[in-house]
Amino acid sequence: MRKREYDEDDVRVRPGKGSRPRTRIRPAHEDAVQGFVVAVDRGRYTTLVEPEPPKGSAQKRKQRRLVVAMKARELGRKGIVVGDRVALVGDVSGEPDALARVVRVEPRTSMLRRSADDTEDTDGIERPVVANADQLVIVTALADPPPRPRMIDRILVAAFDAEIEPLLCLTKSDLAPPTGLLALYEPLGVPHLVVHKGGSLDELRDHLTGRISVLVGHSGVGKSTLVNALVPDANRAVSQVNAVTGRGRHTSTSAVALELPEGGWIIDTPGVRSFGLAHVSVETVLAAFPDMIEVTVNCPKGCNHLGDGCALDAWVAEGKADHARLESLRRLLSSREGTLDDTAPSHLAD
Ligand code: ZN
Repeated sequence: MRKREYDEDDVRVRPGKGSRPRTRIRPAHEDAVQGFVVAVDRGRYTTLVEPEPPKGSAQKRKQRRLVVAMKARELGRKGIVVGDRVALVGDVSGEPDALARVVRVEPRTSMLRRSADDTEDTDGIERPVVANADQLVIVTALADPPPRPRMIDRILVAAFDAEIEPLLCLTKSDLAPPTGLLALYEPLGVPHLVVHKGGSLDELRDHLTGRISVLVGHSGVGKSTLVNALVPDANRAVSQVNAVTGRGRHTSTSAVALELPEGGWIIDTPGVRSFGLAHVSVETVLAAFPDMIEVTVNCPKGCNHLGDGCALDAWVAEGKADHARLESLRRLLSSREGTLDDTAPSHLAD
């Protein structure tokens, strides 16, 4: 990732085969520095810039710093989200009132989207919310509020679709045992851990260290408590970002990336309640379960795998797989339909 990009200056010096006419689209950005987008607020991108390795000159090595940038016109309508790695030019000093320009968004390893019904926009477009995450932590209370399996199912589908590894983080185990809920997810092999108030977070830290994790969970599940415990100066970090953007408080829907003391990032998504699943195919969900995808080659054409001659039923009947695993898969497949968010009545949720 750190490798310097092949840019148009290289192209000029040694014209390579098949080099695209980049210069027309992108001016030379030989001085561009790499930034990691930690917050997005109304057209302003707060990025973390690491010090560049010394170039052997007398040039002063700059500090690790937050640099605010706007999008260069040449990027057009291309979206930039938290987690993006970007190339910055212009004033990258990070001084107050300095404004850099994002001239390039590096290729993404993953993209998590929220659905249109989760936003105030009514154009029906699913919006990218976090780039490059490699773990989606689903924070769910075991009681108070009660867990909502249908919501968890939908988040799992979103994770499989985005090719982000899920982690079920069950809180408030002092109020209720995890057994019932785990019976729904253990058959699928979803990794999980259980925490409670005042208990150790070491296992959770182990899962988070060195990775980019998105935390989702609705209000009351203890997500903020976790964030504050994991990032002791979370509030300070957020206010620092706000001070840098000079825009005051973040809007409730914006995600913010917080650095873990042990290394790695957690991305808190306060306003994300539902994920866009309309585009997710049966195959995408199945792809997360290679053993089952193998069986479905024997399914009738166009099988939705929910019943009616589905080869997965025979597979279970022959004793080759656990019924609970198939049931859980079918629950996930069905969860793609309809929309669901925090405002849905609880009888619809479970
Ligand atoms: Zn089938």
